[in-house]
Amino acid sequence: MKPVIALVGRPNVGKSTLFNRLTRSRDALVADFPGLTRDRHYGEGRVGARPYLVVDTGGFEPVAKEGILLEMARQTRQAVEESDIVVFIVDGRQGLAPQDAAIAAYLRKTGRPVFLVVNKAEGMKYSAVASEFYELGLGDPRAISAAHGDGVTDLMNEALEVAYAGQPEADDDATNTRGTKIAIVGRPNVGKSTLVNALVGEQRVIAFDMPGTTRDSIYVEFERQGRPYTLIDTAGLRKRGKVFEAIEKFSVVKTLQAISDANVVILLLDARQDISEQDAHIAGFIVEQGRALVIGVNKWDGLDEHVRERAKTDLARKLKFLGFARSHYISATEGTGIGNLMRSVDDAYAAAMSKLPTPKLTRALIEAVEFQQPRRRGPVRPKLRYAHQGGQNPPIVVVHGNALDAITDSYKRYLEGRFRETFRLEGTPLRIEFRSSH
Ligand code: GDP
Ligand code: GDP
Repeated sequence: MKPVIALVGRPNVGKSTLFNRLTRSRDALVADFPGLTRDRHYGEGRVGARPYLVVDTGGFEPVAKEGILLEMARQTRQAVEESDIVVFIVDGRQGLAPQDAAIAAYLRKTGRPVFLVVNKAEGMKYSAVASEFYELGLGDPRAISAAHGDGVTDLMNEALEVAYAGQPEADDDATNTRGTKIAIVGRPNVGKSTLVNALVGEQRVIAFDMPGTTRDSIYVEFERQGRPYTLIDTAGLRKRGKVFEAIEKFSVVKTLQAISDANVVILLLDARQDISEQDAHIAGFIVEQGRALVIGVNKWDGLDEHVRERAKTDLARKLKFLGFARSHYISATEGTGIGNLMRSVDDAYAAAMSKLPTPKLTRALIEAVEFQQPRRRGPVRPKLRYAHQGGQNPPIVVVHGNALDAITDSYKRYLEGRFRETFRLEGTPLRIEFRSSH
């Protein structure tokens, strides 16, 4: 599981600037999906072999009594509770502010490991910027410049050392799960627990806590038609007698972690509700993570034609960028549509793990170019020569040639469509990377 790092501090200390730097590697990917609404507050990054999730908490006024500030404080507290590490940012140019002391007092009580960071320290002497912050009682302040990047890699190396210290090794028994890993995600009340019970309720399942995380996540192993699966909980499930019940409130962090750790995500929507911003954010994260996806539109039972049409139009309009995924109209309470949903899960997994042999990829590329040439940009016309597979889950196609910087987004989408058709890649994102020789 990817550790979660929360960025905390009062407004204007540089949290968003640091957030952007820590998640920058993802920006290019996000830009590849037009129409994607993105939640600026959750992102992903990696230092070396160590990935992490990062949460930017907005401004934190711990003494707020009402309104938007109170809501922000509430959200910050939830983010801190769900994090493995807190990076507490103060402003080296403004110096120590009274709110900093209040935030420090709160953070000390949470017992989370805290890294105290003095931002905007570029061009300043360490002793001059750091000294006044010792009195926060959070150890040695680290000086950084989020804007210029000074000190950020050192900070992350140390933070990740601590975050990963509690994690089991990759080959630890506890992390070896069976079969396809599935995360069922969606807003509260869409029917996640009901679907879990429809899938596994009758079976003797093995449920266990995944160690090494502060938010103990449960993993449920089950079988269906002889195939093994492991379900990663997002709803805060606990077994009560024969059924699973959700006992915790919705957690964005838990949802993001489950998506990162899954092979296939089932995005569950409620046919009786409009698709919300939150649904779109979750969907955006699934695509960013490159996860195979199946959409389940739940509560399809007893709906009249008019409502059904509306639900279909809403889906087509708001989640256009999920066109690669199959949708199923299901009823978790009645058990209808679930067989087909699970067949799509299997197909999406197979597509995500596809092997794309170089000769066949290159042939598909050349045929695509013969059918439609990329446009010239100025005097140069991009030349696409051959392609090979650069990764699985999601599949990555690396296209080699010359002047590939001039390839337009629409041509890239055209190529994606051709590759999808050739290899019948349904249910998985597909990434295309270009490598120019000159
Ligand atoms: P947030 O409200 O905590 O998210 O703060 P922002 O990231 O929006 O930054 C607030 C202001 O501080 C912006 O004008 C930034 O450009 C500036 N800022 C952020 N990081 C640095 C830094 O490392 N050095 C300097 N000099 N300014 C910075
Ligand atoms: P969760 O919060 O996403 O885990 O949602 P639950 O599984 O707890 O379901 C929320 C409510 O929706 C419960 O009252 C369920 O009985 C109801 N529900 C779930 N699936 C269906 C369905 O397929 N049809 C109908 N009509 N109601 C459903």
